[in-house]
Amino acid sequence: MEFNFKSSSPYSYMRYGGYQGKFKGTEYYLVPNPEASMNIRDVYDMFSKIDSALVDLLNMGKVCSDLDNEPTKFTFATTFAERYGLLGFMVEAPTSKDFLLNDEITLKEDNFISKNRTIKAKDYFELFFPFATNDEMSYTVTNGKVKIETNSDLQKMLSRSSIENQLIYSSFYCEKIDWIVDYAKKMYNIFKKAMDLKNENIYDFDEYVAKETIHNYYFSGIPFRINTYGNTPEIAWQPNSLKQALDMAFGFMLCSEQNPIKICKHCGKVFYAKNPKAEYDTSQCRNQANVYKSRNKNKDEKK
Ligand SMILES: [Zn+2]
Repeated sequence: MEFNFKSSSPYSYMRYGGYQGKFKGTEYYLVPNPEASMNIRDVYDMFSKIDSALVDLLNMGKVCSDLDNEPTKFTFATTFAERYGLLGFMVEAPTSKDFLLNDEITLKEDNFISKNRTIKAKDYFELFFPFATNDEMSYTVTNGKVKIETNSDLQKMLSRSSIENQLIYSSFYCEKIDWIVDYAKKMYNIFKKAMDLKNENIYDFDEYVAKETIHNYYFSGIPFRINTYGNTPEIAWQPNSLKQALDMAFGFMLCSEQNPIKICKHCGKVFYAKNPKAEYDTSQCRNQANVYKSRNKNKDEKK
């Protein structure tokens, strides 16, 4: 199957004009900062940017695996959020779509939120809205329906969208920087292992570890509708979050015959290769690599 996200069915996603870091106890959160720019928030077609979002995510994973310190994590997570919005972990992690209807929520095995897979709904809500007062953001359940209660005008403007979007598009909605970075690291690790497998000289044990790492991560499925423009049916993916869209894009790209996402042979950066034969992300890296190559060659000739 040919991989093509750029279908005629766009997936609109919301991001705020800015984000800032904020502590709740010892936990460091990324919080929307609506005052940061003229555009309080805007929606964009996520699928049109999914290639660059994936490359940015993998590079965040690479750099934060190499340099595991707070300023690096903060810088990468903030830059990512300002480009694409928060990941939407709150609606992605639960096993059930209608998770707020129950007193207790069950989380998927591969979630980045909590090691305990069951969590009280009230505590779960609190985890994503740590700075909002009850008047600003709370919810009620009546007759099997969830309703968001708020005194905020910005929040009220979302009231006609789905409950999921009212949650993750809220100006009170936060994500811990560690969740974002852990997810990025996990994806980079899987990607790196998949690239290692292409190396014919890989040791048997490393090959085994690589295959296990790739196989063990469970990607959640994305619901879809079928649209018919004219009379031709076409899949219209309905991800509930940026994370779900990234997970799917990652799987499709990694498994496509010509995976366009590569690791630069010189600097190790992840890049999107327009030319399928490209081995370097920039001409500087290619030139540098050629210089080293010819130096080594000269050395060999002198021996
Ligand atoms: Zn490079």
